Amino acid sequence: MAAGDPDFDFDFVVVGSGAAGMTAALTAALRGLRTLVLEKTEFFGGSTARSGGGVWIPGNADLRRCGVTDTAEQASRYLGHVAGEDTPAALRAAFLEHGPAMLDLVVANTPVSFTWVPGYADYYPEAPGGRAGGRSVEPKLLDARVLGADLASLRPPYLPAPAGITVTQANYRWMSLGTSHPRALTTTARVTARMILSRLRHRQLLSMGQALAAGLRVGLTRVGVPVWLSTPMTGLEISGGRVTGVRALRDGQPVVVRAARGVLLATGGFERSAVLRSRYQRAPIGTDWTVGSPANTGDGIEAGVAAGGVLALMDDAWWGPSIPLPGGPVFCLAERSLPGSIFVNAAGERFMNEAAPYVDAVHVMYARHTDDNPHIPCWMIADQRYRNRYVFTGVPPRKPLPRRWYASGAVFRASSLAELADQIGVSAEGLAKTVKEFSEFASAGKDAEFGRGDSAYDRYYGDPNCKPNPNLAPLTQPPFYAFKIVPGDLGTKGGLRTDEHARVLRDDGSVIEGLYAAGNTSALVMGRSYAGPGATIGPAMTFGYLAALDAESGS
Ligand SMILES: Cc1cc2nc3c(=O)[nH]c(=O)nc-3n(C[C@H](O)[C@H](O)[C@H](O)COP(=O)(O)OP(=O)(O)OC[C@H]3O[C@@H](n4cnc5c(N)ncnc54)[C@H](O)[C@@H]3O)c2cc1C
Repeated sequence: MAAGDPDFDFDFVVVGSGAAGMTAALTAALRGLRTLVLEKTEFFGGSTARSGGGVWIPGNADLRRCGVTDTAEQASRYLGHVAGEDTPAALRAAFLEHGPAMLDLVVANTPVSFTWVPGYADYYPEAPGGRAGGRSVEPKLLDARVLGADLASLRPPYLPAPAGITVTQANYRWMSLGTSHPRALTTTARVTARMILSRLRHRQLLSMGQALAAGLRVGLTRVGVPVWLSTPMTGLEISGGRVTGVRALRDGQPVVVRAARGVLLATGGFERSAVLRSRYQRAPIGTDWTVGSPANTGDGIEAGVAAGGVLALMDDAWWGPSIPLPGGPVFCLAERSLPGSIFVNAAGERFMNEAAPYVDAVHVMYARHTDDNPHIPCWMIADQRYRNRYVFTGVPPRKPLPRRWYASGAVFRASSLAELADQIGVSAEGLAKTVKEFSEFASAGKDAEFGRGDSAYDRYYGDPNCKPNPNLAPLTQPPFYAFKIVPGDLGTKGGLRTDEHARVLRDDGSVIEGLYAAGNTSALVMGRSYAGPGATIGPAMTFGYLAALDAESGS
């Protein structure tokens, strides 16, 4: 690059093309900043494009339009309760105050629009200020043709739905019930009809994170922001204590890109870095159990640290119990809430409410794990009744599970609990006792040990036709199944500590001029918790937006 080359001279440089990065770039360009997005891979979208696309932003216009009643005071009380200990109040206040305006900006300047996910409860709906009806919105379906040639560069989803079917979050809830509920059948019929109709109209519908990432990308095209794919940032340019640009590899050649108003690090988490995971996280850990985006190796976090930034929450992640299947881990959602299944440790004992929020579930796995009584892996035990009624990680009810799952050692089946226990190395006596007790709880409709089904969040993924408790059914019908459960995640949540303008902070609390971080590159406003569906993407977008506003204001 020649000095002063206008091709490498910008006001605001965004590193990473996920929700945080693209929202920031859109905002900056709308505010008149000459903006560039650098993306390491040949695809844009990161984990955002792989995701469910849920966005948790209390009080946003789409929630109001859908008739959700809420107050700022309630939302603040709730967030303070679930994340208060680990996040500064100023960060929580900034998120709640600016989130709705950010979403308005996205809706006004991209083809994305959002709708409430009815009843998708906050993860702690019974906590002060919590909402059983939920505060989460998801993108409405988007015709992929709006992307034009950029469609080829959209990062593929984590689990593509079979036969070109497009499923929303709201659809998934009902479709997971398989054949056990009339609403499951009508939803499946509606989704199939929609697929046929869109084929006839030569439309390709995108949902969830695909729709969000695609819509944001179209917004960038409209405002003229270039997105340089296959251009990894390799470091930051620093002059007089201020970040003035980034170093990157463009067409394999080292280049320096100037950023007069600042650089936003939005490179996602470090879920794919074995080195950082083993440095900061508790064993057993690795990079095989995450479903986060393949290139999220913590580059932004390391660059921020090299510039003097301080880290927080690095031991934590957006955890979730996951099954390590041969094609990649499956992050369990409805599977562990539906009735007729339990989790057990090596002693064959239950040790948690299996339907609990997924971050909490893995916190319990780590907290209880010992050499004498391993909880990693633990095992999800289910019976044939469960398999006859519900979809299991995409496999329809009654359909045999793929042979390669059994061959991999992640799934077992046996005609008796004792035989199953023997196969998976779990105490047969313990398992028999646990299943007997649990089946008594299920018949009574009350989990006296762990309260499964007490929370509205548990019940969201339960079976409303299962009485008296939608999350509990006895395990009585052989054959029995065991699924290996490991501490997977959607990505990591620790990173650079930032202030309410998303400015990266040093250990002494001072600001590194010209350097911002948002999304999973930053230590997030949720602290160790997860307030509700969409509570990673909502803050990622909001702090990306706030970074751009701050860069524009020139502070
Ligand atoms: C299957 C799945 C489902 C999920 N569902 C939800 C949900 O419904 N709601 C929710 O809130 N959260 C959900 N999550 C989590 C959520 O997707 C992420 O937390 C969020 O998208 C992170 O956004 P981000 O902008 O920080 O990073 P990403 O979206 O991961 O984007 C980071 C980008 O930076 C790029 N990058 C990395 N290093 C460099 C470099 N050196 N130079 C340039 N670019 C670089 C990466 O390639 C990537 O494209 C889900 C995640 C997964 C995987």
